[in-house]
Amino acid sequence: MTVVRLADQIWGQTAGASPYALGLVFAALLVPDPIGRWLAGGLVALSLVGVARLLVEKSRADEEVRLVTTRSRVLEVELVRQKDALDDFAEGLDTFVFLIDGEGTVLYANRLATAHFDARDSQGSTLLAVTLSSDLQDLMRKAVALGAPVISEIVYSHPIEMVGQTQVWPESAEEPRYFVSIHNITDLRRLERVRRDFVANVSHELRTPMTTVRAMAETLIDEETEQGGSAHRYLSRIVSEVDRLTRITDDLLILSQAESTEPAKQLVDLSQLVELHAETFKPSADAKSLRLLTDIEPGIQAVCNEAQINQVLTNLIDNAINYTQSGHVTVRLATIEEGALIEVEDTGVGISSENTARIFERFYRVDRGRSRQTGGTGLGLSIVRHIVEAHGGKVSVESQLNQGSCFRVVLPCRLNEAESTEPAR
Ligand code: ADP
Repeated sequence: MTVVRLADQIWGQTAGASPYALGLVFAALLVPDPIGRWLAGGLVALSLVGVARLLVEKSRADEEVRLVTTRSRVLEVELVRQKDALDDFAEGLDTFVFLIDGEGTVLYANRLATAHFDARDSQGSTLLAVTLSSDLQDLMRKAVALGAPVISEIVYSHPIEMVGQTQVWPESAEEPRYFVSIHNITDLRRLERVRRDFVANVSHELRTPMTTVRAMAETLIDEETEQGGSAHRYLSRIVSEVDRLTRITDDLLILSQAESTEPAKQLVDLSQLVELHAETFKPSADAKSLRLLTDIEPGIQAVCNEAQINQVLTNLIDNAINYTQSGHVTVRLATIEEGALIEVEDTGVGISSENTARIFERFYRVDRGRSRQTGGTGLGLSIVRHIVEAHGGKVSVESQLNQGSCFRVVLPCRLNEAESTEPAR
């Protein structure tokens, strides 16, 4: 505030107060007593100072109001700008976006969602009426009940078939409003299916010629042996390479089957399954002078696909024996909070920490030469991971180079479901 403006204001306001001040001065002059006159004069001066102070404070308050008003206008402009940017962002997204209330009524749909679901008048309609998806309705109810984000892959049939990665999450803790985003992954899933079918078909097609090649090579080996010829070595090599190719195609078929079909599950006595399965590896362990130990908690049941869990055990125990030169392999089964825990521990070559992160990838082998020697395909652990995850479980490994490894599989027991199912055997 400038001095000129202040003086101006004081002048303007004092002008209003001056008649009273003049009145007081005259009243003072009229007082006959000189002391009384001084007192009256003093009072007049004090009142004038008071008036001036009030004016200064009022002018300060006016200035502050002006500043706050300007600031709130700037904030308002900034808010509008941010809202426009968010609107543009939602409109330009390659994802269907809805904002709904706790009852499922659509409050907002972005351009893509409006066009795809033909939802021009969607505001006020329910999400179910717009998308005709009861699965989405269920997911939304789950998010409302949990008050937390939920995500699921949903197959929509309206207006065309579409696989959508769908997420529902609360806007904020205070507002009973929810965002719904649907990302169209139909092409991705179609390409995955094409790849799976391709791998399965190729593996299948290769089997017949490989069987023929093997049979012919074995016939030639027999003839060579009778005639004492020198081609025996090469023919044996052909047989072992064909066997290797057969193992690879077999593993590829197992993997693509596990990927393409949901495993049929039933209640299985896991304790018995693990015990029996470990037994079958005794001869292989004995052949390498390894001790095969078991520590199995009895009576553990789980809802699972028996053949697939057998495959998991085969791959883990087989690896443990293959990658161990001396010592022991221990197979354990116990219940933990998350379900059933299967452990396969060995005292073998171990795996370095930079490799443990990758061994579950397809065809990843720490030592190609050793894997080839032991007849490995590089697919065993990816099959394990796929099967375990398809059962809602987890697989992990802890290992130290030259000390040994411990593979852990956690399978949810799902006792409620299990209790209502008849035992498989
Ligand atoms: P492979 O057929 O080559 O054994 P896997 O997918 O079963 O393929 O395993 C991937 C790689 O992980 C193996 O090549 C090996 O290097 C390592 N591996 C698996 N199990 C063990 C183990 N018990 N001890 C040491 N290394 C292992």
